[in-house]
Amino acid sequence: MIIDTHTHLDNEKFSEDVDEVIKRAKEAGVKEFIIPAADPKDLPRAVSLSEQYDEIFFAVGVHPTEIDKYEDKILLDFITHPKCVAVGEIGLDYHWVKEESDRKKQKEFFIRQINIAKEYNKPIIIHVREATQDSYDIIKSFENIKGVFHCFNASEQLLEFSENFYYGIGGVITFKNAKKLINVFPKIPKNRVIIETDAPYLTAHPFRGQRNEPFYTTIVRDKISELWGVDKKEVENITTKNAKRLFGI
Ligand SMILES: [Zn+2]
Repeated sequence: MIIDTHTHLDNEKFSEDVDEVIKRAKEAGVKEFIIPAADPKDLPRAVSLSEQYDEIFFAVGVHPTEIDKYEDKILLDFITHPKCVAVGEIGLDYHWVKEESDRKKQKEFFIRQINIAKEYNKPIIIHVREATQDSYDIIKSFENIKGVFHCFNASEQLLEFSENFYYGIGGVITFKNAKKLINVFPKIPKNRVIIETDAPYLTAHPFRGQRNEPFYTTIVRDKISELWGVDKKEVENITTKNAKRLFGI
């Protein structure tokens, strides 16, 4: 069994056929799903999917690119919901943000959301894009937090947190230009690797460019099996155990 630990099933790209998407995944052995929060407007849909499906869990938070919409209430309204397993995705994304004041704002709300996660004893799902050093500094400044670096960016610096943090591996590892990740991958402790799609984005090769969906975690599993030199079932056992340990499911 595989858990897709990062899948935006609340995204409008799934509004037409989410039931079929889930069915297709389950038939391929992808049995549980975690919907991270991104845009606050989609959160009610994530909550409702989690109430409709035993296999679906969700996280609360505001994505760094949506930070202008931030309110504590967005997290606090659902953080005690029985299907809420984490705070995220939260973090820093400097790709489109060049102004120092905007970066400062992202940092401020990243820290604020980590504090809420701590208070409610939830792991965090971290999004880092072109902001490794600042993310590192912030995480380093906290004690007793745990979580996952979603869509792990192959930074060896972030591997320093592997005592309490996990590393989300998705379709990127199958890309032809994934050399850096392929090289770093063996350095991640096996008990810290979890599988994700980031659906509807970042579809694994050879389906790159098409809509991603949880079914494609099977391709990621196959790639990990090749890289670790262990059979597919063993990859499923290890990564599922890791995800359950992190998210308490
Ligand atoms: Zn995501």
